[in-house]
Amino acid sequence: MKLIDTHCHLTLEHFDNEREELIKELSEKFEFLFEVGIDLKSSKKTIELSKKVKNIYCSVGIHPTETENLKHDDYDEIEKLIENKKVIAIGEIGLDFHWDTDKKDQYIGFEKQLYIANKNNIPIIMHIRDAYTEAIDFLKTHNIPEMGGVVHCYSSDRKNAKKFLDMGLYLGFDGPITYPKNQELREVLKYTPIDKILPETDSPFLPPVPYRGKRNNPLYIQYVYEKISEIKQIDIEPLKEILFLNAKKLFKV
Ligand SMILES: [Zn+2]
Repeated sequence: MKLIDTHCHLTLEHFDNEREELIKELSEKFEFLFEVGIDLKSSKKTIELSKKVKNIYCSVGIHPTETENLKHDDYDEIEKLIENKKVIAIGEIGLDFHWDTDKKDQYIGFEKQLYIANKNNIPIIMHIRDAYTEAIDFLKTHNIPEMGGVVHCYSSDRKNAKKFLDMGLYLGFDGPITYPKNQELREVLKYTPIDKILPETDSPFLPPVPYRGKRNNPLYIQYVYEKISEIKQIDIEPLKEILFLNAKKLFKV
């Protein structure tokens, strides 16, 4: 076995029609999966799901596009949720300038949740989109949790990848590494040391080839493993073992 998915959203409504059957199949096929929170409500749902399914762990956090008009109390509540045993990280947190979400609120959310991660000694799952330079500058002037973290669904260039790797962070790779036009991203994957790579689907989003345009699901992680195997020239079975150990090491599962 040893198959893992370190980033999915099975509690979103996209799976309402077949969640139970799918989760049954996933718990037979996967060593573990990480269900990732995007706001307070979904973070509570990730915990509920992780309590029900033995090999599902979860993160709690406020996604950068969900930070508008939040109050102190909301972040306090996120901090309280960490006490649950199945919570393995704070996330997803970060900066996303692709959408119109107020930038000041995004910075406040990022800062508050970095602080929570440091204080509670827990790793972070970062979401960064169209804000790589800004996120790097921000991390340079703030404490990165000693426990480390991952830049989920990495989508920038090699130069920025080096900066995150130099900070001791992991890079998550998803379906986009299979898209024909993403040659630059495959170069980043090639460059990234194998012990700093995490496999993700971000289900229901970002389906790999050959499922583009469809709803993604963690079973399709097979295509992410195949692409990593091809690029890193490591057979699937040993690759599964390596990536499993990477996730165990970072998230202390
Ligand atoms: Zn996500």
